[in-house]
Amino acid sequence: MFSRILIANRGEIALRIIRACKELGVETVAVFSEADRNASYLHLADDHICIGEAPSADSYLNIARIIAAAEIADVQAIHPGYGFLAENPHFAEVCRDCKIAFIGPDTETMGKLGDKIEAKRIAKAANVPTVPGSDGPIADVEEAVKLANQIGYPVGIKAAAGGGGRGIRAVHNEATLRGSFRQAQIEAEVAFGDGRLYMEKWIESMRHIEVQILGDNHGNLVHLWERDCTVQRRRQKLIEESPSPALSEEQRQAVCEAAARLCRQAGYTNAGTVEFILDLSSGEFYFMEVNARIQVEHPVTEMISGIDLVKWQLRVAAGERLDFTQDQVPRMGHAIECRINAEDPEHNFRPCPGRIDVYVPPGGPGVRLDSHVYQGYTIPSTYDSLIGKLLVHRPTRAEAIQTMWRALGEFQIHPVKTTVAMHQHVLGHPTFLSGQFDTGFVEKHVLAK
Ligand code: ADP
Ligand code: ADP
Ligand code: MG
Repeated sequence: MFSRILIANRGEIALRIIRACKELGVETVAVFSEADRNASYLHLADDHICIGEAPSADSYLNIARIIAAAEIADVQAIHPGYGFLAENPHFAEVCRDCKIAFIGPDTETMGKLGDKIEAKRIAKAANVPTVPGSDGPIADVEEAVKLANQIGYPVGIKAAAGGGGRGIRAVHNEATLRGSFRQAQIEAEVAFGDGRLYMEKWIESMRHIEVQILGDNHGNLVHLWERDCTVQRRRQKLIEESPSPALSEEQRQAVCEAAARLCRQAGYTNAGTVEFILDLSSGEFYFMEVNARIQVEHPVTEMISGIDLVKWQLRVAAGERLDFTQDQVPRMGHAIECRINAEDPEHNFRPCPGRIDVYVPPGGPGVRLDSHVYQGYTIPSTYDSLIGKLLVHRPTRAEAIQTMWRALGEFQIHPVKTTVAMHQHVLGHPTFLSGQFDTGFVEKHVLAK
């Protein structure tokens, strides 16, 4: 095992990684920007180094500064967390060149799977169904029009380099396609530095189902079941749960096996997630994308499997073998995660950073809270609005919902606006209780109310 690693991230995921390291006896070096001077994770790490000003480009996205910090701190490995540099193959390559282990898949695999067009090709080669659409990047508007007529409206235009729910547009007719295509190209160029777009059929009623994968460097790869992330706003997840209430046992086996097959074909190592669309009109599954990193919602899987994913990320990166087989991956009870964001659900979830004057976290049986905030902490406006992740684990879905509802009721955060009350509304909604809904749920039942 490593003796000392650097964490190239901030907030709750930095804290999560520190916790895993402490339990493994690994020293941690935290980095921070000037906006994060008062962050709690800094004091839990063994060392902390300021890497620059608040803007991500000057700190958490600045490869030169992070590598300099790693050299000064004399670490053996870097954990990138999620977001920021986590899926940047160039960063992984620089780490390799500097003889620092990158805790994630290898550079080449990450490069291939991070490109959504290339990832779809790999899925097809692994005999995993993909959404009907373009075979590669679309050259221009005329090609887009031709393709859309072949596929049939509505279609989705998606950025090859997109992420975080950005760079995706649903298009319903040719008139809007022309304008949307040009706009999307410019936006993708600005946001991701890569204007390549692809097209696929827009699935009007779908569930987001994803499968957790873990592979070592000795040819062992397992899946750790699925997560259902259908409760979304702006194509970003709000609630995740496992098992999915929408799957039959046969569907569950099929989608989990498809994810593992795809990752074996790609030579994937470390933790990763394969995302799928479940088309509710046909019951068919389609591959959507691979997230070549630890995900925000990984604790859902940790709760139902009892397997610590972050510890395994470190072990695998240090060369250890998985000490369990596919048949030994447990699936126990039901877990739900609610993302607690500093956002105003009454005003289309606009971010509401600021100082937390009152903070009373929930607890009790079956509750896990992954959060870095404290009373008196000011949420900076520079980064994402995640305050923390509230999770519950119970024998059944009905009991998990009850526990979550109870825990949300205990949670006091003032005066910043949060998603706590909105989550309570969702958890008590008959449609959510029924388990039968699609990705339009929040728009229909929360925003429209
Ligand atoms: P998850 O499934 O882990 O929730 P998300 O897509 O929500 O994945 O991304 C997790 C974090 O990474 C979020 O903070 C999100 O904004 C960020 N992120 C992911 N991909 C990108 C990207 N290509 N560009 C910018 N931010 C991204
Ligand atoms: P990101 O990289 O931003 O996470 P994804 O490709 O994973 O982008 O898609 C994010 C979300 O966008 C999905 O969970 C789903 O709600 C919606 N989406 C993506 N592709 C389609 C599609 N073809 N039809 C309908 N919805 C889609
Ligand atoms: Mg995605």
